[in-house]
Amino acid sequence: MRIVVYENDEASFMFSLSDVMNQLQERSEKGVQEATELKNALSLSAAQVITVDCDYLGFVILNLLKEGKGSVHCKVCGKAYLSSELRSVPIGSGRKTITIDNTGECKKGIIKRLFDREKRMTTMMGGEKYICPNGHGVLWAMTGIE
Ligand SMILES: [Zn+2]
Repeated sequence: MRIVVYENDEASFMFSLSDVMNQLQERSEKGVQEATELKNALSLSAAQVITVDCDYLGFVILNLLKEGKGSVHCKVCGKAYLSSELRSVPIGSGRKTITIDNTGECKKGIIKRLFDREKRMTTMMGGEKYICPNGHGVLWAMTGIE
């Protein structure tokens, strides 16, 4: 199986190329330019393991995690987990319980920065973070960005 790898400060994410391509295809058909560009770039690669350094992949990752696809290597644990082993916890405004244990931690990360940028364009009501079974944050996302 050919795989796509994406890395942020906290973790690296691995997904099958076909799962990523399906997600990109869907978004490309909706006219998302970044999806089309990334899809084209991936289809040109002949590598078995494709490392992607593109912020847009963050959107794709979020959807794949929701579907329980792929795996994550937590850098703090030094271990790999299936995406189904991760837990999603709500963060941000609009919730009475804020479950962030370390707010400074949430300012880091490529994906968080990516979603911060999107935040200016839409109305946001908080978000979620994905944590490994030992409670380390691996991915942050704001909700309501479609
Ligand atoms: Zn961990």
